Amino acid sequence: MAEAPTMERDGFVLARLDEVVQAARTDSLWFMTFGLACCAVEMMHAAMARYDLDRFGIIPRSSPRHSDLMIVAGTLTNKMAPAIRKVYDQMPEPRYVISMGSCANGGGYYHYSYSVVRGCDRIVPVDVYVPGCPPTAEALLYGILQLQAKIKRPQVIQR
Ligand code: SF4
Repeated sequence: MAEAPTMERDGFVLARLDEVVQAARTDSLWFMTFGLACCAVEMMHAAMARYDLDRFGIIPRSSPRHSDLMIVAGTLTNKMAPAIRKVYDQMPEPRYVISMGSCANGGGYYHYSYSVVRGCDRIVPVDVYVPGCPPTAEALLYGILQLQAKIKRPQVIQR
């Protein structure tokens, strides 16, 4: 049986196209920041030098057209809900959402407020929930790694 080609010996490798596409999607998650309240500070912290999200190919973007991941970090109010949906709709497929913190997950501290949406999953489909008030930068990082694992198994993500 012939040996599989290697880059060192043959100058090329063979791979299935769907695996190459999944690897590109997984390792170049550009995220649309949606900082809404205090959780956003930990999200910014995760992108700074100490935790350095860039080393995973995860880079913040300021345009939904360039983003395939939205991180909803903070308290989503009824007034803000149409805006978050509009931004989500402008992101190209495939797109993913991480809900960061108790407020985004279910209203949190403001669960009984008349002005707060009890979970951003009422407005956009959420792939990973990161618990905490606020979640630490490490927790967000762990959530992103969970999302990457999920993307590698596309049958898991059902829309
Ligand atoms: Fe602030 Fe806690 Fe709500 Fe995050 S979960 S936005 S830290 S109150």
